[in-house]
Amino acid sequence: MIPQIILFDGESIPVRNIYCVGRNYSEHARELGNEVPTEAIFFSKSSACLASGNELSLPDDSTIHHELEIVLLIGTGGYRIGVDTAWRYVAAVGLGLDLTDRALQNRLKEKKLPWFLSKSFRNSAFVTRFGKPEDLNLADSFWLKRNATTVQQGRATDMLFNIPELIRQLSARIPLLPGDLLYTGTPPGVGPLAIGDQLELGWGETTLAQIQVTASNK
Ligand code: ZN
Repeated sequence: MIPQIILFDGESIPVRNIYCVGRNYSEHARELGNEVPTEAIFFSKSSACLASGNELSLPDDSTIHHELEIVLLIGTGGYRIGVDTAWRYVAAVGLGLDLTDRALQNRLKEKKLPWFLSKSFRNSAFVTRFGKPEDLNLADSFWLKRNATTVQQGRATDMLFNIPELIRQLSARIPLLPGDLLYTGTPPGVGPLAIGDQLELGWGETTLAQIQVTASNK
């Protein structure tokens, strides 16, 4: 089955590509010991790894880190999009978890190999429900609570490359398609998840998802 995003009006949009941005908040780049980039770093995840709902089933034989991110759903395709018109291509906005097998990612980075498999495994691209961009206040902080403790918090205004600039840079290289998702990078506070964790993702006062983490072999 093709993974779908369900919109506020009940419409479902098939997800095509999942693009992600690395190191888009300077404090997070520093916490992993990385240089702060001068151009956005893009990578992708397999769309077969999309997950949503209130249960997140993860492998229990590796340590999976949460990366809380603002996620854009592209509604209109485009190529070489300018910053002035970039928001017109965005159908909806939500939050997501760019789940990462950090030990594998570190091994791949050491060997200068692609990160792909550390970012792509079943359910590694979690998304909350989405809203219309105009209904969200981008200046509000978005957050992740793990077992009722806030572990990540960020604001779109703290991005090194803001949303229109990310769309400009990505679409200068790759034509964007309706149904593409763009994970826009994680603020500081990434860390491991454990089987049994209760997660809550929200933006400002609004809770967008509540999740129970379970083991995938159960
Ligand atoms: Zn990420």
